[in-house]
Amino acid sequence: MDLARPCPCGLPATYDACCGRLLRGAAVATTAEELMRSRYTAHVIGGREGADHLFRSWHPRTRPDDVTPDPATTWTGLEVLEAVAGGADDTDGVVAFAAHHAGPGGAGVLRERSRFTRRAGRWVYVDGDVEAG
Ligand SMILES: [Zn+2]
Repeated sequence: MDLARPCPCGLPATYDACCGRLLRGAAVATTAEELMRSRYTAHVIGGREGADHLFRSWHPRTRPDDVTPDPATTWTGLEVLEAVAGGADDTDGVVAFAAHHAGPGGAGVLRERSRFTRRAGRWVYVDGDVEAG
């Protein structure tokens, strides 16, 4: 992973200064949206580093046994559509997003409203509602 490349999450920052800090454990997300972006980036990067971040940032109550990103799916872009609460002073938050992908079955878009909560001071992903289309 080229640390100086633009961050896959779409913010105008380098990977290293944006989601890279969270993936390597040098920083924690201050908002639910920041965590959501870093989880998208974890899917883009994949491999052990991506899986480790998905595991750490997933609530143990809802986390599946296998969090390995699907290597057959290429994530091509993220749009954050709405963020409700999930700020530095909140304990819960919702982030709606559209994640564009390509794969053997063609291109598509995953639309989800994700729920996040703060656990032991850290934002974690709880679950989400996937919308058709
Ligand atoms: Zn980022």
